[in-house]
Amino acid sequence: MFLASSGIAAAGFVLGGCAARGRPAGIPPRAPVRLAPVHASWERIIRTTVGLRPHRDGGFVLAAARLNDKLIIHNYGHGGAGMSISWGTGAAAADLALAQPVRRAAVIGCGVVGLTAARQLQRRGFDVTIYAMAVPPDVTSSMSLAGFTPTSGLIEVDRRTPEWDAQFSRAAAIAYRQLQLLVGAGYGVSWLHQYAPMQEIRPPQTSSDRPNLEAGLQTEREVLQPGEHPFPTKFAIRRTTLRIEPSIYLEALMRDVKLFGGAIVIRKFDTPRDLAAIAEPVVVNCTGLGSRELFGDTELVPLKGQLTVLVPQADVDYQTSGGVNLPSTPGIGIHMMPRGDGIVLGGTSQRDVWTMEPDDAERKRVVGGHIELFSRMRAR
Ligand SMILES: Cc1cc2nc3c(=O)[nH]c(=O)nc-3n(C[C@H](O)[C@H](O)[C@H](O)COP(=O)(O)OP(=O)(O)OC[C@H]3O[C@@H](n4cnc5c(N)ncnc54)[C@H](O)[C@@H]3O)c2cc1C
Repeated sequence: MFLASSGIAAAGFVLGGCAARGRPAGIPPRAPVRLAPVHASWERIIRTTVGLRPHRDGGFVLAAARLNDKLIIHNYGHGGAGMSISWGTGAAAADLALAQPVRRAAVIGCGVVGLTAARQLQRRGFDVTIYAMAVPPDVTSSMSLAGFTPTSGLIEVDRRTPEWDAQFSRAAAIAYRQLQLLVGAGYGVSWLHQYAPMQEIRPPQTSSDRPNLEAGLQTEREVLQPGEHPFPTKFAIRRTTLRIEPSIYLEALMRDVKLFGGAIVIRKFDTPRDLAAIAEPVVVNCTGLGSRELFGDTELVPLKGQLTVLVPQADVDYQTSGGVNLPSTPGIGIHMMPRGDGIVLGGTSQRDVWTMEPDDAERKRVVGGHIELFSRMRAR
């Protein structure tokens, strides 16, 4: 099973025992939360996008290797968590690069993983050139829902080792702090409330004796009781979380790379031998799913994800995770993320599916589930 890879778990709504008990007797109810419902309808769809998350059952690869006279640092395989943790894996990759005395580095890949690795290298004094066959908005990172989901689709629970956990925790903590410092219109990073409508509050999932990887990476959750929220379910769980708007964020990162003297060159590499032709003595490999072909890593598989986007709605300033638990919304949980470029509806993950064609059945499930949720929501 993927770690926190589906539904409510993906959004981190596994409840602790305290929250599961609800409000203690004698505490007065909160004033009802008022929210503008999303105008979810088939007529308001403006696009459907597909992206292939670069997943490895054994988790991301962060390691140094030698290729002739070059130091190669691998930094790929971030699954459904690349937007969340890449500042941290980029910091670790840049620290590994310090082993090479010449402060000139190539980064292969211009998705979020390559861009943040490039910035971390620049902060350590490297001259950086990014080489990539595609740049935003034509990369997986641009197709992301881009919530702060540091463990989503990242590693199979039974593949975790204490060393991998420690590496993850260091990276995720750096990334969580860095994203907080980027909050503002310039980077398209912001805090917002996330609501998970629920018919029942489930007991905590304690199936594993391993440490909770999300500890310290989330704000506290609140259980909203009947009458305190507008959703057509008995309860709603509320938490404050980070949102990233990829179209703003990735452009800003490209601007910063150039501002600090970096260059971005469009170039495809077919074999590792091609890397020998570039001048830089350090190469940081951030090719995501491309590492399967380029470096023969057959453990990499796509988790195909699809987003359907509705006309933007400025009055929607909250995220939702989950539907109304009716038979019309089976499978993995659905998610709504409001952004300047549209109301984004997601919640699909198809393992080892390589086609970039939208899947109509998944589109019906995700859009239909949201139409049902928002049509039954109490208007403010
Ligand atoms: C629908 C969906 C929802 C998601 N939701 C979230 C979320 O809520 N939170 C979250 O954190 N993450 C989420 N993700 C996952 C996240 O988007 C990925 O983990 C992240 O984008 C991976 O970044 P990357 O830089 O490794 O890959 P990419 O963005 O794919 O970048 C790879 C780069 O490498 C280049 N490249 C590849 N091969 C070669 C080659 N041979 N030669 C030259 N260049 C090459 C490409 O051109 C590209 O520039 C989601 C993804 C999808 C699809």
